[in-house]
Amino acid sequence: RPLLTALESLIWDVPDYPSPGILFKDITPLLADHDTFTATVQALADAGRDGSGATVVDKVLGMEARGFILAAPVALALGAGFVPVRKAGKLPRETHAVSYALEYGEATLEIHTDAVAPGERVLLVDDVLATGGTIDATRQLVEACGGTVAGVAVLMELSALPGRAAVGALPLTALMTV
Ligand code: 5GP
Repeated sequence: RPLLTALESLIWDVPDYPSPGILFKDITPLLADHDTFTATVQALADAGRDGSGATVVDKVLGMEARGFILAAPVALALGAGFVPVRKAGKLPRETHAVSYALEYGEATLEIHTDAVAPGERVLLVDDVLATGGTIDATRQLVEACGGTVAGVAVLMELSALPGRAAVGALPLTALMTV
């Protein structure tokens, strides 16, 4: 598994960021390595293909901010559209909004109401799946637009946290689990 080996060496643990006691996974060394970034995008894009290699999603959604970096090239690789899911107040037109609990406090994510058309199938892409709150909120935004989440693709799943349960029955692709 050469990709897995590369990911293990290019995603760095940063202790006590953003607050004491948190071990943050820093993906910027991976992004700076062209070969590994390319292989990562190809592997994530496979989550939007069927067994014959045909693209089965209309849109790829990325969540602000690191999700953007991965989801946009995945959308290009699949020949699909890219949709940004943003933090509250950043999108200029009419939005759907979903608020969800963080460890401390609350966050709100928004999508343009016309970003996903009724009946469209979408792939959600993010860097890290932790509690699953971000994925769950994004799924609600897609459903508010009338779309369907076809799958979830992340670089890394933190298996000590209940993210996989939040993803539920949706197909989940995680390039690595720690
Ligand atoms: P969740 O909503 O699943 O608890 O958290 C996932 C979100 O928080 C993702 O959007 C991800 O970017 C961010 N996140 C949480 N922990 C980490 C981490 O250790 N490293 C990185 N890069 N992102 C994280």
